[in-house]
Amino acid sequence: MSHGFGPGFRGSTAESGAQEPSNGKKERMTLEEKAKRIVRALDQAFPEARVTLNFRNPLELLIATILSAQCTDQRVNEVTPSLFKKYRKAEEYVRVPLGELEEDIRPTGFFRNKAKNIQACCRELVARYGGEVPRTLEELTALPGVGRKTANVVLGNAFGIPGIVVDTHVARISRLLGLTREKDPVKIEFALMPLIPQRHWTRFSLQLIALGRSLCPARSPRCPSCPLRPFCDYALNHTGAAGKEKKKNL
Ligand code: SF4
Repeated sequence: MSHGFGPGFRGSTAESGAQEPSNGKKERMTLEEKAKRIVRALDQAFPEARVTLNFRNPLELLIATILSAQCTDQRVNEVTPSLFKKYRKAEEYVRVPLGELEEDIRPTGFFRNKAKNIQACCRELVARYGGEVPRTLEELTALPGVGRKTANVVLGNAFGIPGIVVDTHVARISRLLGLTREKDPVKIEFALMPLIPQRHWTRFSLQLIALGRSLCPARSPRCPSCPLRPFCDYALNHTGAAGKEKKKNL
């Protein structure tokens, strides 16, 4: 697999714009050092970060993740108890008439597309993997309707194989922190991979998602309360000495 680092990638020797203000000295950090401190701060602030989709096996997580596109995890969790009771194996999603599956997942939105993807994906699982969910990024992303984000969610949370999940929070906060300038999720993932130790990839993603849902929502980041403030380019550029935010909307 080629790791195509984009133009915004800054290697480990690059200097970050971030400066640590705590000791009053204007000390410059390498991007690698900054990433290390961010990982440490996230571990302290969100030691228990977990995927919020409910599942009991890899197939359930794969289906739940497909359903979570353009939908809250909470809504998906309302639909999946009866769904997972009705469909226990990949072949059961294939056998059911498409219209019936559409109705079963309707509350998650975009249900026609999602039902079509679930059936196509499960058809492949049955045909190629005996109904089991494969354990590699390449095999997962070759399945219909499964992109890198979904594949990394499944790898990291169902199989314990580290993967960086670039959802909207991870993409936005990585840019705010100054870890990347990329906008494309795949380029962001490749920019983060050399900066974040591999064993932290899944946890790091879950922690940034937790941060995005709590202290750093897009419309009103609460920088003065944020554990990442000393390392965050946005906070350094948009908050005054007293920590008061100069600008609210990102
Ligand atoms: S310091 Fe502010 S902008 Fe930076 S990650 Fe924290 S809440 Fe978001």
